[in-house]
Amino acid sequence: MNSLNGRGESNRLIPIINDAGSESTAGGGYNFKQMLIVMKFGGTSVGSAERISQAAALVAAAIEQHHRVVVVTSAMSKVTNSLIDAAQSAAKGEWSPDIRQQMLDRHRRVADAVTSDAGRRDTAMAEVERRLDRFEKLCVGVSMVHELTPRILDAISGTGEMLAAPLLAAAIAARGPVSSPVDATEVIVTTDQFGGAEPLMAETRARMAARLRPMLDRGEVPVVTGFIGATTDGVLTTLGRGGSDYSASIVGAALDADEIWIWTDVDGVMTANPSEVPSARTLAQISYSEASELAYYGAKVLHYKTILPAFRQRIPVRILNSFNPAHPGTRVSVEGDASALGVKAVTSIRSVSLIAISGTGMQGIPGIVAKAFDVVAEQQANVLMISQASSENNICFVISSAEAPRVVKALRTALDLELSRGHIEEIAAAPVAIVAAIGDRMRGTPGIAATVFGALGSEGVNVIAISQGSSERNISLAVADADAGRAVSALHAAFQLERVR
Ligand code: ADP
Ligand code: ASP
Ligand code: MG
Repeated sequence: MNSLNGRGESNRLIPIINDAGSESTAGGGYNFKQMLIVMKFGGTSVGSAERISQAAALVAAAIEQHHRVVVVTSAMSKVTNSLIDAAQSAAKGEWSPDIRQQMLDRHRRVADAVTSDAGRRDTAMAEVERRLDRFEKLCVGVSMVHELTPRILDAISGTGEMLAAPLLAAAIAARGPVSSPVDATEVIVTTDQFGGAEPLMAETRARMAARLRPMLDRGEVPVVTGFIGATTDGVLTTLGRGGSDYSASIVGAALDADEIWIWTDVDGVMTANPSEVPSARTLAQISYSEASELAYYGAKVLHYKTILPAFRQRIPVRILNSFNPAHPGTRVSVEGDASALGVKAVTSIRSVSLIAISGTGMQGIPGIVAKAFDVVAEQQANVLMISQASSENNICFVISSAEAPRVVKALRTALDLELSRGHIEEIAAAPVAIVAAIGDRMRGTPGIAATVFGALGSEGVNVIAISQGSSERNISLAVADADAGRAVSALHAAFQLERVR
């Protein structure tokens, strides 16, 4: 543990990128561009005192290389889940101060380990206690009224990042650079869609310039809380689960950063989820569109909204492993990997449901599709995949299982007339998984669909519905949830994605 406060040799580890985008390791001279880098650390990368010290070492190494760094931090691993569980228990009238105490103890142990400076530690812990007091008050309030609104849930679930930021700032400061925590509620201005707020970029840009630029000009390292923002009236919002990646991209875009580095627990974006396909391999280069498709179709390594703010300003995004920082990871850019062929990666989305509207009498009745999608839009459900048989006897689409019951209910109400006249026989929801094969250069590569169906056929996987985006960057398939793992592995093998090419 005593190496945690030292400066160590971490600067040998960080991948350093010169102007032309080629890589060398730091310490090899200063003939590279000095950049403004946004570094985001995910939950496992700040999950313990050791991890926070490692994150701080990575930041300090970049500062030693004369880069300027803005940090975006997630909550320590599992903290957000515990906060949400506490809020949900409170809504049932159950509140126990134990949870506050456990959080306090965990964060205090980290503060003790990452800095030996008593003043710095006390400042960080005062901040942590202030946040936990507020969390407790909110939970007690919820337990009294037995009601948890999306707005209060955001106020509670967004606490975790505010607990982590002071500790990471203290750990960075222990290594030399001046560093302080910044609440994203001060700098990221959002809409009031609680649980999935969107940034208002003009306001955000102005706030970032006013709050962070002076810090950067003084050579300080701001540690911004990921996941959260606030409305123009200052009400705390969250950007959605896993949203700290999105925060990093928003911060990068608002500050015109040179690069955005997402530090996580795997060696970059891989050909499949490595915990599902052990032979999965890191993709060295991918395009913005491939990264978006992969994230949208279930590659949890990036929140699905992350790419857009970076793409709009063509800011390169790197996905790096804080547990293996010498690995160059994945670079996301406009060009991607021009030499790659066909399918690059296979993903899956679980906990989704196929909604099917079917009936032989639907043929030739205009407007059913329009009505159905109006309902989906009203319910603010996110459609992941759509497929319609050419016979018009069946329309089906896939949405999150959490949204399925209310969407089916609303569809039955809106299409009541068609149901009673027998034009529609059934509106039903069935749990499925989506499996997607993704790659920019699938377009114009013949035989991909044949390989997909051949591979799934020989595995005995039944395909319930299929859809191919008009961009031809992906083929997505609905399969039974129990078949999803086998389907992903079969496609990974059929396209030989484990092979370096
Ligand atoms: P963080 O806490 O750093 O945000 P996440 O758990 O959100 O990390 O995302 C990283 C995880 O994403 C990996 O540990 C891996 O299990 C999962 N994952 C899913 N698909 C992929 C993929 N295609 N490439 C890399 N990781 C993936
Ligand atoms: N802490 C948040 C979550 O667990 C955001 C994030 O980690 O990206 O969803
Ligand atoms: Mg994540």
